[in-house]
Amino acid sequence: MFKLNNNYLKLPGSYLFSTIGKKVNAYSVANPDKKIIRLGIGDVTQPLAPAIIQALHGAVDEMGRAETFRGYAPDLGYEFLRNAIADNDYKARGCDISADEIFVSDGAKCDSGNIQEIFSLDNRIAVCDPVYPVYVDSNVMAGRTGTYDANTETWSDVIYMPCTAANNFAPELPKETPDLIYLCFPNNPTGATVTKAQLQEWVDYANKVGAVIIYDAAYEAYISETDVPHSIYECEGARACAIELRSFSKNAGFTGVRLGFTVVPKELKCGDVALHGLWARRHGTKYNGAPYIVQRAGEAVYSEEGKTQLKKQVAYYMNNASYIYNGLKEAGFTVSGGVNAPYIWLQTPKGMTSWEFFDYLLENVNVVGTPGSGFGPSGEGYFRLTAFGSYENTVEAVDRIKGVRL
Ligand SMILES: *Cc1c(COP(=O)(O)O)cnc(C)c1O
Repeated sequence: MFKLNNNYLKLPGSYLFSTIGKKVNAYSVANPDKKIIRLGIGDVTQPLAPAIIQALHGAVDEMGRAETFRGYAPDLGYEFLRNAIADNDYKARGCDISADEIFVSDGAKCDSGNIQEIFSLDNRIAVCDPVYPVYVDSNVMAGRTGTYDANTETWSDVIYMPCTAANNFAPELPKETPDLIYLCFPNNPTGATVTKAQLQEWVDYANKVGAVIIYDAAYEAYISETDVPHSIYECEGARACAIELRSFSKNAGFTGVRLGFTVVPKELKCGDVALHGLWARRHGTKYNGAPYIVQRAGEAVYSEEGKTQLKKQVAYYMNNASYIYNGLKEAGFTVSGGVNAPYIWLQTPKGMTSWEFFDYLLENVNVVGTPGSGFGPSGEGYFRLTAFGSYENTVEAVDRIKGVRL
């Protein structure tokens, strides 16, 4: 008789966004005349930029001719894309990362969930609280997190690093020593970020204690302040302790196209074993590459037209972000984020819980956001709004929220 991977049974409750979906569905069935505005899920809404569409069309045509048809992609990804990434995302920023340290994938969610596989189950992970749920849940599935305490909503073997107003939503070095440290800056869900000097402290700490930092930089394109690092490899010593995850989802609207990459520097070692070799082995065994068509689209992100068009797209969302930020601030809310990230993190008013405020907004102004408590216990009392909607919907949602009498 077969047995299950019982670790899956330890996962608590239903997934945050399915709970939200059910609530919104129930409300809209009961109130079919109401126009609901969704500023909840972190999904883009603007269409793909013309340079990307052109690259996609060109690659599709190539696939239809015998001379230019492509089958399986190379394990690490096509060189034209890895070179473009190395030049534009790294060398141009003074980071010493070469094309053969870049592993092209179909997105950062998979990579952030899969990367734990190359590490022992004995490793202790440290995560920010609140956190992008994938980091924790993928470690739960692997059996690395101990037992769940439903009261505190925490796992016995996970080191939580609270990110609260008191520390400007930037984690402090943990008291217990972790082996794997998940960091995400600019942050989802808080929209907060760290300066290069702050990130350097983490790199120094990881090198001192022999930990690996898994650095999720999915929102890098939204950075507007000059002292905020775009890559962890801007910090000295990061090649020896950090893996970086990137995505084309948020900077280029590829959430439905699917493309991302992971950087594993060759200097990153456990004893004399390079992690690069392990991840290459894993990639080669379990993954057959992002589509050629999509990798060509990724290349177009780095073309001159692509860069110009995508800068505009990011600016469009960031204009929404500042509309939300300023509007809610004017209305008396305590808000943060929205400057280097497309997320606004607001404190729920009048001591409401995150879910109480969710229900309140849904029922009174028909606006959907994300309850902060869904991202971890320190998210309780907070609420996330995203800047990924259309400008018109964003303005209407903010104006509706401003009008409520709390
Ligand atoms: C959106 C997001 C990603 C990107 O995921 P993809 O699989 O590349 O679409 C990764 N990390 C975080 C924190 C995100 O919010």
